[in-house]
Amino acid sequence: MNAFHYKSLPLDVYFDNGKSKETKEILNQHGYQKVLVLTTPEQEDAGQELVQQLGDIAVGVYPHAVMHVPVEVANKAIDFVQENNIDCCLALGGGSTIGLAKAIALKIHTPIVAIPTTYAGSEMTTVYGLTENNLKTTGKDIHVLPKVVIYDPELSVTLPAEISACSGMNAMAHAVEALYAQDKNPIISLMATDSIQALKVALPAIVKNTHDLEARQKATYGAWLAGICLGSVGMAIHHKICHTLGGTFNLPHAQAHAITLAYSVHYNRNADVEAMDRLAGALGVASREDVGMAIYQLNQSLNIPLALKDIGLPEQGPAEVARIICDSPYYNPRGYDYDELLDLLTKAYLGLPPIKIN
Ligand code: NAD
Repeated sequence: MNAFHYKSLPLDVYFDNGKSKETKEILNQHGYQKVLVLTTPEQEDAGQELVQQLGDIAVGVYPHAVMHVPVEVANKAIDFVQENNIDCCLALGGGSTIGLAKAIALKIHTPIVAIPTTYAGSEMTTVYGLTENNLKTTGKDIHVLPKVVIYDPELSVTLPAEISACSGMNAMAHAVEALYAQDKNPIISLMATDSIQALKVALPAIVKNTHDLEARQKATYGAWLAGICLGSVGMAIHHKICHTLGGTFNLPHAQAHAITLAYSVHYNRNADVEAMDRLAGALGVASREDVGMAIYQLNQSLNIPLALKDIGLPEQGPAEVARIICDSPYYNPRGYDYDELLDLLTKAYLGLPPIKIN
């Protein structure tokens, strides 16, 4: 066995159907008395319900979270938190809402309690992102890690089927890349494998019936594990492709992850044999040669859009993405081959399978 270093992050995690109903008691245990509930505009009503539940310790809802945390949005929120002496930001939502709480914590260290309602996994990481002049910068800071995370699968039943599917595949991408991470370790690999298996089973059931609570529970469990993977080890080529698709072409985050994962794993299929054999096992296919197709077919069964052109990538996109990732690569177990990447990204652009089908 190879040498490894494993470090766990300090945060409390609660997981149960209906657990968010105990949010007030959990906040009380931590001594928070002036709590601001953060949401997107779309989830403001859910935020208001939470405020009702919290009673005298809630200051109100701040429903201004938007995708990719624009600096102006973050600065306004920071002013609001300071003016109102908020002692805890309670983020109810997905990566965008948790991202706003992180931007506040980065600047003024206001503790975060997160109630995730998608599968993106941001709640388990020290990674923050901020967007200024259309440029997204990311970094790591321990202050942005939530103190407490409350997973309540019941809250995700309102997440529409397509967003659920893409968000779940976004989570799977964290787990997949953790398997062949530069700093991979045995505990994270176990979590990654369990995460992939859980998501693979849960997502088709959710797309069939968004109110299937057992499937929601399984997907939330898989997403939690995937979030730990993302927060613990470095990511590789797939995350580089998606950061380029989001940063340079403003493609929607979860959809871009969902579409490109099949091509990233196909590219890496023979790179880290142990990891890719493990991935094949988790996906239930015979060989690592089949992992790309297995994910492509899973996407098909989940009704996820298959082509990057359908979510906004222009025709010159594949060549530009291939050039950018070859010019400033992340670690990857296999080197960067421009021609092969261009071929795969062109297939992703058109929505063709990662391998030729006779
Ligand atoms: P999101 O937070 O933007 O949510 C998508 C939409 O779904 C929003 O309109 C939201 O209000 C709505 N929604 C969320 N939960 C719902 C529910 N249960 N019912 C109904 N509607 C619901 O999407 P996301 O994919 O979770 O987050 C994407 C953002 O998170 C990106 O900016 C990405 O970069 C960031 N992210 C950061 C990290 C990190 O570690 N820092 C990790 C993953 C993602």
